[in-house]
Amino acid sequence: MDRIEAGVYRRLDAMRDDIIKLTGEMVAFKSVNPRFMADPESSQESDVQDYIESRLKALGLDISRWEAEARRPNLVALRHGRGGGRSLAFNGHIDVVPIGDREGWDYDPWGSEIVDGKLYGRGSVDMKAGVAAFIAASEAIINAGVELKGDLQLHIVVDEEAGGFAGTRDVIKRGYRADGVIVAEPTSGFIDAAEGGLSWLRVTIRGRAAHAGWRFAQIYPQAEPDAENAGGINAIEKGVKFVAAARELEREWARSRHHPLMPPGITTINPGVMVGGVGLGEDGLPQITSNPAMIPDVCVIDFDFKYLPTESFEEVRDEFEAFVAAFARADPWLRDHPPTLQWHLSNIDFPPFSTPPDHPLIEAVRETHRQLGIKTVLTGKRAVTDAAFYAGANMTPIILGPAGAGLHGDNEYVELDSLIEVAKVFAGVILRWCGVAT
Ligand SMILES: [Zn+2]
Repeated sequence: MDRIEAGVYRRLDAMRDDIIKLTGEMVAFKSVNPRFMADPESSQESDVQDYIESRLKALGLDISRWEAEARRPNLVALRHGRGGGRSLAFNGHIDVVPIGDREGWDYDPWGSEIVDGKLYGRGSVDMKAGVAAFIAASEAIINAGVELKGDLQLHIVVDEEAGGFAGTRDVIKRGYRADGVIVAEPTSGFIDAAEGGLSWLRVTIRGRAAHAGWRFAQIYPQAEPDAENAGGINAIEKGVKFVAAARELEREWARSRHHPLMPPGITTINPGVMVGGVGLGEDGLPQITSNPAMIPDVCVIDFDFKYLPTESFEEVRDEFEAFVAAFARADPWLRDHPPTLQWHLSNIDFPPFSTPPDHPLIEAVRETHRQLGIKTVLTGKRAVTDAAFYAGANMTPIILGPAGAGLHGDNEYVELDSLIEVAKVFAGVILRWCGVAT
């Protein structure tokens, strides 16, 4: 093994207690994403950023700090390389989800208790441990006196748990770029080399309002010629047909599309919200939703729409729109009143990525794993992460972080052996990817 790498790994082993302490102290800050809080000002996002900032300043990093939203600071810390190497950015979020029901926890959610090699607490594995791992890797390299060729960047952000608007998306909007990006979300030490795309989609179906007293005319043929027309067109019933048709499409996609790192059926079209009523308001929702004596003329269905890591949004959008057009053509009313579609509802748009298994960034992890005696496993991310936004800005991301469990649930923990191991992997990848200046 190379002398420099071996020295850095030894340093990280010696730093074990300090890395655990760093993680525990970060977990103790109640940095719940304020979008989930009744009292947003009590979030400790900015306190944990103060804590991290002073630690990175002591390391001599060049730090930028700004607030995309009030009291919600992002940090970018830079270690400039000597030149001639590739740049690497690490990304981690310090916001966490609420603890849920305190009764469900066997440990203090903010207590960083250590039991049987696990550190418990909200935000431990998701993902203050990942942040601690890349801070520790940077410290070990810098304190060993190693100079890098390429730039090392640490992007430590808020707001991942509620869509990344004030966090990673804002970092990228400010122009930060790197040749490779590692998002340190928990992966049990595996490399998540692919992630599907996600868009929220609103489908609005219009009918014709009428009094429910006329519905009989559509249920049983009437002698009076005008009766049938007076019955209106029930938008909720059209919406139910649409949901059933979308499910058939979803099943067809599950049978016909595949990505080697993703489970079959991952291209889901989930109807998550459905609202019917009368009168389409400016907010895009029906205005009267409390009167079943009316035939509703509006049905709004919001879908969570996922596609494969290798598909483009434009491609799947066109395909789904063609499906909607075919659905409408088969219905005498919808033929003339087709549903309308609104993509990226609430600005939810996560571009997909699929970093090739032989990409040099993955090779750098593989070689580090070989040195450390770790088996390399490539997987695909089922959910979406901030890696999407780097991919959307034409950067190459992977996701790699420590093992643990209880994310967004009770008794969240990080496994301490995994935390230290990931810190060593990060250090090895930095040395390989950025290159050591001699
Ligand atoms: Zn996370």
